[in-house]
Amino acid sequence: MTVYNFCAGPAMLPVEVMQKAQKEFLNWNNTGCSVMELSHRSSEFIAVYENAVTALKRLMSIPDDYSVLFMHGGGRGQFAAVAQNLMTDSEAQYFETGSWSSAAYSEASKFGLCSNQKVSELNELKQRYVRPFEKWNVQDNAAYVHYCPNETVDGIEIFDDPEFSVPVVADMSSTILSRRIDVTKYDVIYAGAQKNIGPSGLSLVIIKNELLERSRESIPSILNYKLTAEKESMFNTPPTYAIYLAGLVFDWLLEKGGVEPQETLNVQKAELLYKAIDESSLYSNNVAPQNRSRMNIPFFLADESLNSVFLNEAKDNGLLALKGHRMIGGMRASLYNAMPIEGVVALVKFMKEFEQKHA
Ligand SMILES: *Cc1c(COP(=O)(O)O)cnc(C)c1O
Repeated sequence: MTVYNFCAGPAMLPVEVMQKAQKEFLNWNNTGCSVMELSHRSSEFIAVYENAVTALKRLMSIPDDYSVLFMHGGGRGQFAAVAQNLMTDSEAQYFETGSWSSAAYSEASKFGLCSNQKVSELNELKQRYVRPFEKWNVQDNAAYVHYCPNETVDGIEIFDDPEFSVPVVADMSSTILSRRIDVTKYDVIYAGAQKNIGPSGLSLVIIKNELLERSRESIPSILNYKLTAEKESMFNTPPTYAIYLAGLVFDWLLEKGGVEPQETLNVQKAELLYKAIDESSLYSNNVAPQNRSRMNIPFFLADESLNSVFLNEAKDNGLLALKGHRMIGGMRASLYNAMPIEGVVALVKFMKEFEQKHA
């Protein structure tokens, strides 16, 4: 039986990438060693690192005045890093659209001056949507604006690139590389790797170089953007194996034609599932169409007492990790780049059969 893993993170990785890693596990590039066992200062590993950076720059068209950093501590590590590196005497403005943007604000508020503005609400149909950027109350002197383009838990995505006159920081943990974005509209993009890039623990930061000047020496070195950039992500031992795997994922994307065809596929995948949900009387999703996430799709059964039956039967059919986030309940299917369309087709088929059976 083919198994499809819909976990929100750590999420499935492309089969081809896992197979390549497996093949090279004990003997990378005729070194007789695993990548895991190579010095991060060795020319062999530096080539792996440089390849990953170059591939990402190509995939996202990252301009030369930006740096790519590989850091530790996942998405939440960046909640602290952003605040410690970028806060000034002016307020940092956090915009809340769901649970991750709210958590980012909670962490930042430990470190300095910041405020939180809720920018999502319910429409007439009781569907959640995000107010357009023009309606966000951004101050001209804000230290930066922070928001989360894709709320992994709530299934809410903002597809537009922002246009603000102050620095924009975006937590792209669960949407990075799923669609094209204009990097120049952002000053800092960060992402925990375990959704769309590689293993957990690794985090990726794309930062406009002029912002590096804000990093003060007094903050923890391991979180310091300027230091990390100067040392090319090797101030201390970086998560070398995770960087290697991320590089394989980037190469895989490039071989498949880059982000654009992936975006087309992601649109198709999400449409298939939302259509099935909207056409059924058992399943529902409560996000307004313009903000429905392509990556994380929560849905609820009209009869909640069927939840565990649904999950058990799904599992018996090779459809794994569909349980919704503990804060929200219901179900959630995560459809990152690595999820083939066949997985979504199988899920939709199962959902229809389940509905007929239990109607
Ligand atoms: C998963 C996730 C995080 C947290 O990542 P960790 O690596 O667990 O710290 C932060 N933000 C978003 C949007 C996420 O999806």
